Amino acid sequence: MQQDASNPAARIAEMPDCAEMLQQTQRWSAINSGTDNLAGLAEMAGQLAEAFSALPGEVTLEEPAPVTAIAPDGSEIAREHGRHMVLSVRPQAPLRFLLTGHMDTVYPADHPFRELTWIDGETLRGPGVADMKGGIAVILAALKAFEATAEAASVGYDVMINSDEETGSLSSAPLIARLAKGKYAALTYEPSALPDGTHAHARGGSGNYSLTVKGRSAHAGRNPQDGRNAIVAAAELAVRLKALQHEGLSVNPARIDGGSANNVVPDHAVLRFNIRPRTQEAADAFLSDLDRLPREIAERHEVSIARHGGISRPPKPVDPRAARLFALVERCSGELGLHFATRDTGGVCDGNNIAACGVPVVDTMGVRGGAIHSPEEYLIVPSLAERAALSALVLHRLSTGALS
Ligand SMILES: [Zn+2]
Repeated sequence: MQQDASNPAARIAEMPDCAEMLQQTQRWSAINSGTDNLAGLAEMAGQLAEAFSALPGEVTLEEPAPVTAIAPDGSEIAREHGRHMVLSVRPQAPLRFLLTGHMDTVYPADHPFRELTWIDGETLRGPGVADMKGGIAVILAALKAFEATAEAASVGYDVMINSDEETGSLSSAPLIARLAKGKYAALTYEPSALPDGTHAHARGGSGNYSLTVKGRSAHAGRNPQDGRNAIVAAAELAVRLKALQHEGLSVNPARIDGGSANNVVPDHAVLRFNIRPRTQEAADAFLSDLDRLPREIAERHEVSIARHGGISRPPKPVDPRAARLFALVERCSGELGLHFATRDTGGVCDGNNIAACGVPVVDTMGVRGGAIHSPEEYLIVPSLAERAALSALVLHRLSTGALS
């Protein structure tokens, strides 16, 4: 890393935050905050609210938007979520940014992966160290360094740390859309796509659906002709949906719930599936097929079919403004002597939702690490300082209108 006094990022190396970032990552990763662990999320939200109050502006904890799910019996049930932390700094500034992260992890409260262990002198293994408690520490340190520059006073920003990113940000999607509105640029702190720091570039989209089939039960031996078999209709739906797959769209029928005893024609079934459209055109084409297909099958099998769910992560192409933001991150990486590369991915994150609001976003500004979503998840510790310096420098350049 270059040490240049005129370079705001150089301050990072001199600030106590380097050690502090590691301590924060360790402290936060020791708290289980699986998306369904409301107690753990409440503890995380409290700690984050306290940590981010070191910055100017106002910290609030926002209530999650109501979300429902379909139970195996086909009934619609409420799904609880934790509160989302928001820091709003200089809301009246003409040029404002959005920085986002998530406090939840994929590890439920009873998951055995709990310990933090050093793999070697600079590699720390633990739940959420890379995805993304280390990334949250990077946001905080980068903003502290940025606030020490003269330019910071002329711009503003919002920081949002949601509690439900790992399950699709359903309860934070309205908040993300509200905060993204009118922002000059956004940075999201997912870990790098590869351990060498490679950034995710274009992303496909993602949608999750439950189709609830209601048929009619009957005795399988005495009067099967009076029954309307919901499982058979759901199975045909699964096969027909899968057949919609093409190069720009993957369809994954994942599960069928339903039925009862062997001698009963099943009167209910729930088919669950995920889609991954690469482009908005592929998403639109799928949506019109999804209007047509269940109607055809409902008619043929004399059942009713109800749909729940939707595309929660729109496809994220890299438009010209986003390309300029990537170019800025590349230039800043070069100045700091950091590796820069990009690659497209089928993975999704809040960057998809931010880009859908027309705001340019680079969404892998967090730490370098790997094996995320597994009990081998690790953080490359020196990347805390690297990525905090990178963000501070990018924020500094953005504050002088680098995308205009
Ligand atoms: Zn993540």
